[in-house]
Amino acid sequence: MLRAEDVKAYYETRRGPVRALDGVSIALHENEIVGIAGESGCGKSTLVKVLYDNVASPLRLVSGRAVLTRAADDTSVLAASGSIQDRWWRDISFVPQASMSVLNPVVRIGPHFRDSADAAFRQMGRGAFWARVREVLSGLRLGDDVLSAFPHQLSGGMRQRVVIALATFLDPRFILADEPTTALDVVTQKEILTLLVDVQRRMKNSLVIVSHDMAVHYQVTGRLAIMYAGKLVECGPTSGIFREPRHPYTRLLIGALPRIGQRGKLSGISGVPPSLLSPPAGCRFAGRCPNVMDRCRSEEPAVRSVGNRHVVACHLHEPVAEDDS
Ligand code: SF4
Repeated sequence: MLRAEDVKAYYETRRGPVRALDGVSIALHENEIVGIAGESGCGKSTLVKVLYDNVASPLRLVSGRAVLTRAADDTSVLAASGSIQDRWWRDISFVPQASMSVLNPVVRIGPHFRDSADAAFRQMGRGAFWARVREVLSGLRLGDDVLSAFPHQLSGGMRQRVVIALATFLDPRFILADEPTTALDVVTQKEILTLLVDVQRRMKNSLVIVSHDMAVHYQVTGRLAIMYAGKLVECGPTSGIFREPRHPYTRLLIGALPRIGQRGKLSGISGVPPSLLSPPAGCRFAGRCPNVMDRCRSEEPAVRSVGNRHVVACHLHEPVAEDDS
């Protein structure tokens, strides 16, 4: 299992800390596809950085931790203190959004595999290592010839597939993909998503997809987490969330999706998210929420279960107090 426990992670700036993650907890299980959604700046990429133990200045882990539990050894727990990094590639890997900027432009593709998994290369031996690389490339519909190519000789879609091959060729249990289809055309987007899902089904590992695109989540994820202004506001089975979104923000996000045959203007979400330099007291969505109540402006809603593995942070969904009389 991979989980974040009450994580607070801030970006240090001259104007003060930007509270990118402010008390976020989430657990990711094996063999599932989880989506993380929300508009730009809500903290979804920062959450992935913490889960991947890739916290570097100006980002600072203020409190909480990420924990990776190894299946083979239940007692072995690795916290976000540099130790998850020891498990990179083998247990957990990362697919970043800008495939061109993660591949060294003056290094051919083959050495990227060799350099990123030196320990595995020594352990597996040259023959088995390259056989595995070729097998994974072939599964992603890439030929051996890409190994001798420079990144600029490949198309955007091919580079993204190379990055997916790099992230998956050692069969990690968790793959974190941050906006894996951003900046790709729609045809290539579909191809990349299909390949990612294929890889997950074959390897039976867990795939986390970060995307602001709710249509992507609807198509491929089994569970969905919605973030807003550094907080997790809703999480549950994707089908349940689309059928009956509980948080007003989720409702508006889903309502903004275009529908086949729809005429007229799409509805948007009015207003902008609050500054994370000095977030407001109470619910951070209060300034934009159509259901806002007085208490929302002073009392922060807790994350509560609404049944069926579905949680939501909104005062509309607090349990009714028991009447003792
Ligand atoms: Fe809206 Fe209040 Fe719920 Fe926040 S807590 S989403 S302001 S109803």
